[in-house]
Amino acid sequence: MSIISTVARWTTVLALFAATVVLPGTAVGQDKVKYVGAHHVALECGLSLFFDDLSNRLRLVSEDTEAVVTPGLDVAMLDCEIVNLQSRVMLKRGEVQIPESFVEMLKKRLEEKRAQRRKKEEAAQAQGKKLRRVVLDPGHGGRFPGACANGLQEKDINLSVSLKVKDMLEEQGVEVLMTRERDVHLSEDHKTDLELRCDFTNSKKADIFVSIHANGCTNPAATGFEVYVVRPHRELNDRVEKAAREAPVTGEELGGRAKRATEIDKIVWRALLMAYFEQSKCLAEKISGKLDTAIADNNRGVLESNFRVIRNSRCPAVLVEMGFMSHRATAAKLKTDAYRRKIARGIAEGILAFKKKYDATCGFTKPDNEDGDK
Ligand SMILES: [Zn+2]
Repeated sequence: MSIISTVARWTTVLALFAATVVLPGTAVGQDKVKYVGAHHVALECGLSLFFDDLSNRLRLVSEDTEAVVTPGLDVAMLDCEIVNLQSRVMLKRGEVQIPESFVEMLKKRLEEKRAQRRKKEEAAQAQGKKLRRVVLDPGHGGRFPGACANGLQEKDINLSVSLKVKDMLEEQGVEVLMTRERDVHLSEDHKTDLELRCDFTNSKKADIFVSIHANGCTNPAATGFEVYVVRPHRELNDRVEKAAREAPVTGEELGGRAKRATEIDKIVWRALLMAYFEQSKCLAEKISGKLDTAIADNNRGVLESNFRVIRNSRCPAVLVEMGFMSHRATAAKLKTDAYRRKIARGIAEGILAFKKKYDATCGFTKPDNEDGDK
């Protein structure tokens, strides 16, 4: 029942109509009303044409709009609403001719629907870029105690503070995953233990990764906290290769069928890793600033390092050194639940401040004109 199949049938009634063509696809009827050919409308507006032989109706259809006209009638339907036309729909030279005023109405409706779709798509896009999932990594654990000083083992403080950060973030509706929630190592081998933390983060598609540590130093006077980000260009080519191989973007597009990293994967991952670096710096600054307020210790700032866990986590990633256990006064404070809670508060507030910026800018993908929460 396509328009093509009906052309022959209509040729018998063409003599009933006479009109002068003034523009391609446009005609003027005897009543001086301007008409536009249905094919022309379909082409111009990207609509599909269907003709129903039984009802003698022509439908012009897009994914969410439908116009129905009937030759000989002066009413039409637009999205199931009846529209009175200024003149009858005509047949001329085997083509349905539609009054121009209705065509204009149809174009307006299509534009409105397009705008609605754009709005929905933008909202969905923004929705997809909210910071939702945080991976917290309490450093060391099990057979790897980390630094030991003044009767403290680093692995215990790291876990204690991380669990408090987890609770605080969850209270704010953020999903938190932990690389460990008990005193365990992830592998007997130290290097593998660290790699597994990155693998966990990457497999869970974390939005950010925060590794939590405490410092130890042979100089007992060393004091303060610091937040690390990766050195952006250190081993960048290796990291790009690894990411492109392990998480091929083109592979995903092809349903995971890609067997090796393509140049496109590498280009995408190079850009992504540099974007993550910028986001990591921002996250580190937020945490550093909030920790400064929370614990009022010596702020050693945001520093760059090549720590494996932040180097191989494929998302914004930072490593927090909360304070020096080797510093006697700091160690005494670190033994108290109240001080650990203060540290946790600083880290959680830093993450939430970053989230606020991340959410407002869809992950920094649109210009950020104001940042009132430095
Ligand atoms: Zn450590």
